[in-house]
Amino acid sequence: MTTTQMNYFIEVIVPLSLPKTFTYRVSEQEFYFIKKGMRIAVPFGKNKIYTALVVDLHNNEPKLYEAKEIDQILDNFPVVNQIQINHWFWIASYYMCSIGDVYKGALPSALLLESETIISKLDANEMDKNSLSDEEYLIYEALQCQNSLKIKDIVGILNKKTILPVIQKLISKNIISVQEEIQTTYKPKLAKYIRLADEFRIDSNLALLLSNLKSEKRKTILLKYFQLEAQEHKPVSIKEIVESTNSSTAILKSLIEKKIFEEYYIQSDRVNFEENKIDSSIVLSEAQEIALKDIDIVFETKDVCLLHGVTSSGKTEIYISLIENYIKNGKQVLFLLPEIALTTQLVARLTKFFGNKVAVYHSKYSNNERVEVWNNVLNNSETSQIIIGTRSSLFLPFSNLGLIIVDEEHENTFKQQDPAPRYHARDAAIVLANAHQSKVLLGSATPSIETYYKTTINKFGLVSLNERFGNVQMPIIELVDLKDCYFRKKMNGHFSEVLLNEIKQAFENNEQVILFQNRRGFSPILECHTCGNVPQCQQCDVSLTYHKYKNQLRCHYCGYSMAKPTNCHACSSIDLITKGFGTEQIELELASLFPQKNIKRMDQDTTRGKYSFEKIIDSFKNREIDVLVGTQMLAKGLDFDNVTLVGIMNADNMLYYPDFRAYERSFQMMTQVAGRSGRSKKRGKVIIQTYNPLNNVIQQVTNNDYIGMYSEQLYERKIYFYPPFYRLIKLTLKHRDFENLNKGSLWLCQVMKQNLNMPILGPEEPAIGKIRNEYIRTIMIKLPDEISLQSTKKTIQKILNSFDLVSQYRSIKVAVNVDFN
Ligand code: ADP
Ligand code: ZN
Ligand code: ZN
Repeated sequence: MTTTQMNYFIEVIVPLSLPKTFTYRVSEQEFYFIKKGMRIAVPFGKNKIYTALVVDLHNNEPKLYEAKEIDQILDNFPVVNQIQINHWFWIASYYMCSIGDVYKGALPSALLLESETIISKLDANEMDKNSLSDEEYLIYEALQCQNSLKIKDIVGILNKKTILPVIQKLISKNIISVQEEIQTTYKPKLAKYIRLADEFRIDSNLALLLSNLKSEKRKTILLKYFQLEAQEHKPVSIKEIVESTNSSTAILKSLIEKKIFEEYYIQSDRVNFEENKIDSSIVLSEAQEIALKDIDIVFETKDVCLLHGVTSSGKTEIYISLIENYIKNGKQVLFLLPEIALTTQLVARLTKFFGNKVAVYHSKYSNNERVEVWNNVLNNSETSQIIIGTRSSLFLPFSNLGLIIVDEEHENTFKQQDPAPRYHARDAAIVLANAHQSKVLLGSATPSIETYYKTTINKFGLVSLNERFGNVQMPIIELVDLKDCYFRKKMNGHFSEVLLNEIKQAFENNEQVILFQNRRGFSPILECHTCGNVPQCQQCDVSLTYHKYKNQLRCHYCGYSMAKPTNCHACSSIDLITKGFGTEQIELELASLFPQKNIKRMDQDTTRGKYSFEKIIDSFKNREIDVLVGTQMLAKGLDFDNVTLVGIMNADNMLYYPDFRAYERSFQMMTQVAGRSGRSKKRGKVIIQTYNPLNNVIQQVTNNDYIGMYSEQLYERKIYFYPPFYRLIKLTLKHRDFENLNKGSLWLCQVMKQNLNMPILGPEEPAIGKIRNEYIRTIMIKLPDEISLQSTKKTIQKILNSFDLVSQYRSIKVAVNVDFN
């Protein structure tokens, strides 16, 4: 017998922006141990070690380079499954980025150790030092004197090369952590409230109680309680009653001990959970019941269903009932949310029904926590049957996914902008679900035009829910004509008389108010103070943006520009103003009008701190805030039960945002904000201040006419070459050298135009033409639906490759954004 020398290789992804996989040599023994989806430490470049992922095993020696040997096998079993690997390659190909970028974005960084990774010890862990191996102890010791260490430095400490497994062990023992911003787990403040025990709600018992109470101090508290309850019609907090009666908590405590008062928390959901009282009794309304049945029927023939339910129709309750069916059958469920801030409310609602089957996964979670969730999902553990998360939870190692819910599917935060992979979580979720043969439910009160369109061509099913839960009517929407109000001097700052009166009314009823002022956008627009006209581009359906330093009005889509006019083209008035007032100004004006009220602001400036968003939401929920002034953050799916008035300060600046989605987004935003009003019992009111009360979108919001908005926008999308009829691929070029960038982007755009038979716009200078000293140009490719995506992308990639070969342009960075949103 002759023995032939066999060669054994593995194919791996490295976590770098490189478009291909790499081949490493392994021994025969290793070859038979390694499985796809295991992590391997590999040397790469000069003296660097990375955590790579095995995607294939084979016997083909690479022709172009000498295959290096691996450093170390990191796993005993796969931590990534084949469905994930396929999905990641799909993302790389569809969104035109490298597989390394996807891999890097998919794994928690604690699973992606490399020689440059910095580790630090976790504090004050009760830990048994005897449980550490000698090597683990050495690292532990080293971290006692130095706060942090680079992994490559540990090579010296242990005096050996293969150290990643030791580090991995220490991470799993919660002794060290990959360095990152300090993460803390948010615990909402549970304000304590009291209420009279049921027994004393009967008058005769109460009279008896009052005459029996000996202590004057106790009597004072009781009387104050009645006074507060009668005056304010809102929960009485312990703090409030103790302060207003000048008594001590001890006296109040004694009343609670005597069972005259009961203590309770406003965030009662959480408390229920802590007491392990899982409340699994949802009674759906008739309309909800029908919707749920209809979803099931859709799922018999289709994989994706849109639940179009008006605000406060109780979509969450429908989701819960649906989830129940899937986990009963042992399936995993993924619940995608557009925003981390929304998870708190949802977790509270879901744990109430599913107890500890719910796990949360998002980027504000610490690395170690993320690894824990990753492993739980991998093991299909009981504690992570339901994952609530933001877009990155799409990358978890699901093996048995039954259902993906994408709530608020219209939100553009589902699309990752930077860095690559620039994927859309909703769309990638549909592809993932397909691989699992599972179902997708998209939910929204204001679906994206793309999604709704797909229901009309029978790609997705559609279930509509047109009534609010509990027979609450949709809010009354009243338009206030700002032009008229300014003319008749019925304005107080930015507040119309109508709005101010409504605010006063709400205060009188002890109800809360939300004021919405959207200041999105950078350079302000030019608006006629007399007629409200905003100059529009002649060739595109967008308004022109005022560029101050060039004194120009410009279209960001076709590049059309004109000198800033001296008078209005519509009415010839010379009273042209640059528009722009923000939430801060509203907050200040209101504070001076109502100095005794608690007015808070919620926008990017006030929610920058960790959990500041949740804190504001909590105290608004607890009714410590009377008026919340905010930006589009308020338009997300928040549920407050005491808000009866929503004011939209100026509807117009949303409408004239230079973007083909401006009308769609304005409709969504206004409808969503309006939907915060009157969610329980009392019918809500919405005041929209505008210069254009007759504008179609504003009329559509007022009449709750989604279909009207949809049809009109769909028509515009068609004639102006936008989605869903055309796919947008946006190229963004950046360079520090203005001239070189100009030349390079012209060259690239020209070549694209020569080789692609479709509308291509650009190169354009975006409104923010320079960021961090880099100049920016964009090129927009509009790909008709009927032209092959595959071959077009191939051509684009080829052109990009040849662009890279021009030495002068090589240093220009090009970012590709497929399905630019
Ligand atoms: P949406 O997400 O559709 O805007 P939510 O799911 O937030 O609406 O529901 C609005 C309110 O109605 C919530 O406070 C919710 O708890 C309540 N609700 C909805 N359906 C039910 C139900 N079947 N039983 C009890 N409360 C419900
Ligand atoms: Zn005018
Ligand atoms: Zn234009």
